[in-house]
Amino acid sequence: MSLLRIENLSVYYPVRGGSLFSRKQYVHAVDVVSLQVERGEIVGLVGESGCGKSTLGRAIVGLVKPTSGKILLNGRDLTSLSAGELRAERKNFQMIFQDPYGSLNPKMTVGDSIMEILSLHRKDLDRAGRRVRAAELMEKVGLSGSRLDDYPHQFSGGQRQRIGITRALAAEPGLIIADEPVSALDVSVQAQIINLLSKIRREDGTAFLFIAHDLAVVRHISDRIAVMYMGKIVETGTSDEVCSNPLHPYTKALLSAVPRLKKREKRIVLSGDVPSPINPPSGCRFHPRCPFAIDSCRERQPELHSAGGTHWVSCRLTGDK
Ligand code: SF4
Repeated sequence: MSLLRIENLSVYYPVRGGSLFSRKQYVHAVDVVSLQVERGEIVGLVGESGCGKSTLGRAIVGLVKPTSGKILLNGRDLTSLSAGELRAERKNFQMIFQDPYGSLNPKMTVGDSIMEILSLHRKDLDRAGRRVRAAELMEKVGLSGSRLDDYPHQFSGGQRQRIGITRALAAEPGLIIADEPVSALDVSVQAQIINLLSKIRREDGTAFLFIAHDLAVVRHISDRIAVMYMGKIVETGTSDEVCSNPLHPYTKALLSAVPRLKKREKRIVLSGDVPSPINPPSGCRFHPRCPFAIDSCRERQPELHSAGGTHWVSCRLTGDK
């Protein structure tokens, strides 16, 4: 049984505004997405800003209500749980955010902030035990355990992200959803945080859904990658399958924007803006920007189909005519 299995998940938001009698419109943020994360696996979810990847992550942890579909964690459908049941289940999954400062209470010491999580999920520990454990967790993420009484503003951006990771680890979850955890950090600090997440996976067997817009970052840490465009997964496979042999024109464009990866290949610059998710294009959603689009692409959405091994893609160029 997979640790996390997302089945046909959709998240539509009603659009505010319009007249009383106009037809209600919806943003198709996530549109019939299926995805799995196995125990101890790191899956990268990549796509441009607004493609729905963060909404998908927020739906998994219950911050956004799905419109339809299932989110099975250890076989239990999170979408069918009551608020109380979901709170209890949160021990098994935690989230790391792009801006750790936003999720840390500036008036609380980092020790209290970590112990707050421990008091929810480690009922076996008394206050002294929680403090010892909080110091251990600080050391685990590369911070001094002697800084428990410091406040968030006394730490750098990278250190605050480490504190965010410490809070996530305090629940000892099997799965962490990391939503753009390094995109606000300097490149050198990014590498340190990525190495830290890899170390946590190696030592504790924690699985990650690593959400990012930068394919270079995702490739570095992920076992598998799913590429998302306008609410749909358009390509998925092992990190090597997707990055060494990208098949979807959108993945090729993302890769060609990474100078270190495909140096000798000509850069594919996407024309046009991302279309409105309120009225997604007919057929293949990528067709208004795709250099290979033909008439049939405007009429029919290609299904995700196997391109060999564990490599799946939704494009007419690879078999689904
Ligand atoms: Fe381009 Fe057509 Fe493939 Fe869509 S189906 S990515 S428009 S070639």
